[in-house]
Amino acid sequence: MAVRTGPARGVRTIRRAVVTGGAGFLGSHLCEHLLDRSVEVVCLDNFLTGSPENVRHLMERPGFRLLRCDITDYVHVPGPVDLVLHFASPASPLDYLRMPIETLKVGSLGTLHTLGMAHEKGARYVLASTSEVYGDPLQHPQREDYWGNVNPVGPRGVYDEAKRFSEALTTAYRTSRGTDTGIVRIFNTYGPRMRADDGRAIPAFIGQALSGRPLTVAGDGSQTRSICFVDDTVRGILAMAFSPHAGPVNIGNPDELSMLRLAEWIVELTGSRSAIEFIDLPVDDPKVRRPDSTRAEQLLGWAPSVPSEEGLRRTVAWFAAQLRAGAVRAG
Ligand code: NAD
Repeated sequence: MAVRTGPARGVRTIRRAVVTGGAGFLGSHLCEHLLDRSVEVVCLDNFLTGSPENVRHLMERPGFRLLRCDITDYVHVPGPVDLVLHFASPASPLDYLRMPIETLKVGSLGTLHTLGMAHEKGARYVLASTSEVYGDPLQHPQREDYWGNVNPVGPRGVYDEAKRFSEALTTAYRTSRGTDTGIVRIFNTYGPRMRADDGRAIPAFIGQALSGRPLTVAGDGSQTRSICFVDDTVRGILAMAFSPHAGPVNIGNPDELSMLRLAEWIVELTGSRSAIEFIDLPVDDPKVRRPDSTRAEQLLGWAPSVPSEEGLRRTVAWFAAQLRAGAVRAG
C-alpha cells in the first residue's frame, strides 16, 4: 500500500520518503509512522543532537534505511524519492546556542541541498519550520499571516533566522522552480525520546522531579507556552506531507499554560517532593506562545486530540522507565 495525496498538484503516490534528522526526537516518530503507512524510509542523520538509539527499533523493519551523513556537505540518495521531510536541525535552545554555526548551516545549506534533491526527484518537500519565526510575538495567538518579532543579532537569532531563511528558500523553489513544497510551523512538542538533558522545559522538569531535585523555572514563570503531544504533531505533519498545500501551516495545540503551572503539574504527576526554584530568564525569551490552528483545521482537517494531562502522563512514564533502565540521566 502507498499513500496518495490530494488533487491540486495531481495525485501523488508516496512510496519512498527521505527524512533528514530522522534519528532525532520528531524525525524518529515520523520514520515510524511512515513505515506504519507502508512508506519506505531513508533516514539521514549525522547524530549531532540525535542518536541511532532513537531508531534502533526500526532497523529490522522492511523498507527502513539509516544513513549517517551531514546534509550541509551534500545529499545523495540513489533511486526514486516521492517525499522529503527536512527535519535536521538542532532544536533546543541549549543545542543551538552551543552550535550556532551548525544551526545556521543546516538551515541554509541543508535546506538548499534537500530542496535541490526534492526538485531533481520530483518529490513533495516539507520543511520543519517553527513557531520561533514569530519571535517574541506582538500578536496573540499567532496566525500564519503574522510576520513575527525576531532579533537577528540576539542569541536566538541563529535558530529563528535560519528557519526564516529556510522558509524563504522553500517558497522560492515553489514559485520559481515549481517544486511541490509545504511549510509547517511546529509549536512546542513533547513526548517520548526527548533527551533528558536537552534543556527544553518538559524533559528538564520531569528529570528534576523524578530525581527529587528542584525544578528550575525561568523568570517568575508567568511566560506561557502551548504544548502538543508528539503523536498529534506527527499526525499534523503527515497530513501536510500527504496534501498539496504550500502553507505555512501552524501545527500546535492551543492549550496554553504558564511555565510555573507546567512545573507544578509535573510535580503533581510524578508524585515528587521537589521544590520550585526560580532562575534567570534567558535573553529574548518569548513571553507568550499560542498557535491559531484554524488553517490546519480548515486545510488539513487536523486538530490535536491528546489532552495535555494524558500526554504528560505518558511522557513521565517513558522517562521513568528510561531512568529505571539506566538509559538516561535525569537531566
Ligand atoms: P532533535 O535535535 O531531536 O532532532 C534533530 C536531528 O537533526 C538530530 O537527529 C540531529 O542529529 C540531526 N541533524 C542536525 N544537523 C544535521 C546535519 N547537518 N545533517 C544531518 N542531520 C543533522 O530535534 P527535534 O525536536 O526532533 O526537531 C526536529 C525538527 O523539528 C527541527 O528542524 C526543529 O527545528 C523542528 N521543530 C521542533 C519542535 C519541537 O518542539 N520538537 C518545534 C518546532 C520545530
